[in-house]
Amino acid sequence: MYDEVDSMLISVTNPKGLSNISNGRLRAKVENNDNTLTSHWFVNNPINNYGVNVNIADYVHFSEVYEGENGPLDMDYFVLSYNLEKAKEHFTDAPKMMEAFEHWFGPYPFYEDGFKLVEVPYLGMEHQSSVTYGNQYKKGYLGRDLSGTGLGLKFDFLIIHESGHEWFANNITYIDIADMWIHEGFTNYSENLFLDYHHGKEASSQYVIGTRKGISNDRPIIGYYNVNKEGSSDMYPKGGNMLHTLRQLVEDDEKWRQILRGLNKTFYHQTVTTKQIEDYISDQSGIDLSAFFNQYLRTTMIPTLEYEIKDGKLKYRWTEIVADFDMPIQVTFNNKKHWIFPNSEWKTTPILSENFEIDSDFYVNVKKITN
Ligand SMILES: [Zn+2]
Repeated sequence: MYDEVDSMLISVTNPKGLSNISNGRLRAKVENNDNTLTSHWFVNNPINNYGVNVNIADYVHFSEVYEGENGPLDMDYFVLSYNLEKAKEHFTDAPKMMEAFEHWFGPYPFYEDGFKLVEVPYLGMEHQSSVTYGNQYKKGYLGRDLSGTGLGLKFDFLIIHESGHEWFANNITYIDIADMWIHEGFTNYSENLFLDYHHGKEASSQYVIGTRKGISNDRPIIGYYNVNKEGSSDMYPKGGNMLHTLRQLVEDDEKWRQILRGLNKTFYHQTVTTKQIEDYISDQSGIDLSAFFNQYLRTTMIPTLEYEIKDGKLKYRWTEIVADFDMPIQVTFNNKKHWIFPNSEWKTTPILSENFEIDSDFYVNVKKITN
């Protein structure tokens, strides 16, 4: 992933009667004398080597033109003939995906190459402009809801997740796989933004919070550099929840959306480091997030809000934190929402009753001290 070619010609020879679907657009199809066919596909954009795709089968085809932010976008679907009717119904999630993600992330990054869904025998993969699909025409992840809330069954996980990678993985690509959270954290997060767009903010929160049950905090999200070693698979649900927490800190959904769109514009078709992404978000949000990112990306510690209520006073502080971690958090007490600004030292504020609740949108632990 250290670099990408600026374009690619993919030429594949296969037996007559079958077709090969690769990335980009079909430039030519040539019949050979030996009962074979050669297809030439051209990718008119930079492409990751792992995004290159060869799929040979007895495909049938249907298509639509999506009127997107950058004009008409060809959306082509290649499936096995006996799945055609099912696919026509099921792939209606694809234009819904395009609408939600162009809203949140900006224009689809590969208009020249079109967008394709291509049926394959495995689960699926984010091949650039040629997303492969094997979710058995089921909602959720092979029919399961990873969030346990029921909301994961409102969409086909594979169509939404793998297509989300067109923005975070194929458009913005990590240089080193140690920073794979840039792909999987944002794309996990894209699932709840899809819900946000089509089913509202409450549904999106419930979903992303539900995926926390998949977090193991076994190893940090960032892996080891220069040895092709990614970090913990927590980069998916913990990455998504870190970004959801960040949305709360920005406290302005339109600003947050412009940051996500700005990332895709600023780092358009580039390979990047986590530092570039972290610095960009800090700059654009106006919040110094260095300790925040160190905490969630580089340790397995979950910030823990310790608090005690005694003699009409609320005492609170952060524990399980890196140096300088002082994330503000929204809490409810005295029947009102407040921002509090804990750090590693105890702070005190008057409180009228024992009722104290933290906003569950923040991915943190809470510990009440009683004695
Ligand atoms: Zn992924």
